[in-house]
Amino acid sequence: MNQEQIFEHFRDTDALLEGHFILSSGLHSPRYLQCALALQYPFDAVRFGRAIAEKFQDQIFETVASPAIGGLVIGYAVAQALNVRFIWTERQDGIMTVRRGFSVKENERILVVEDVITTGGSTRECIAALEKSGGKVTAAASIIDRSGGAAEVGVPRIALATLEVPSYKPEDCPMCQAGEIAVKPGSRK
Ligand SMILES: [Zn+2]
Repeated sequence: MNQEQIFEHFRDTDALLEGHFILSSGLHSPRYLQCALALQYPFDAVRFGRAIAEKFQDQIFETVASPAIGGLVIGYAVAQALNVRFIWTERQDGIMTVRRGFSVKENERILVVEDVITTGGSTRECIAALEKSGGKVTAAASIIDRSGGAAEVGVPRIALATLEVPSYKPEDCPMCQAGEIAVKPGSRK
């Protein structure tokens, strides 16, 4: 799957909208990404999972782990493709934690998988929680990299596709200046 095929699938499933959007932050953007929509059909999740797994053919992992909720579907699919177990981390009182009775062996080799990397924050928090439990995270992956390659997570990282998602303050927004009406994602169809 090349980057264009990935974006085509994202557009077809409305996971990638193009237009003039008001983000939840109040900023305006010509793009809006909702990755969950691209993974609704297991067939598609399996394809993306396999594509990520293929990037790690020469590496050995004992476990794939993802930060909940965004990483759950794609992480499960990658674990299936690599035929290893899958666990996740989640926030408890705001702190990313290994819960649910999951345990991690000392130096267990782990791949951390997310759907989208923006700043890398949730991947970094997931890695920290796993390492606190004794694991050794050796790589990270996502379907989409929204950081333009800039997000640092402390381990080698790959993405299937890189996407620029510029955002503007309303008063600086070139689309507003061109007289285009901004909409909240989901309000146009
Ligand atoms: Zn605007």
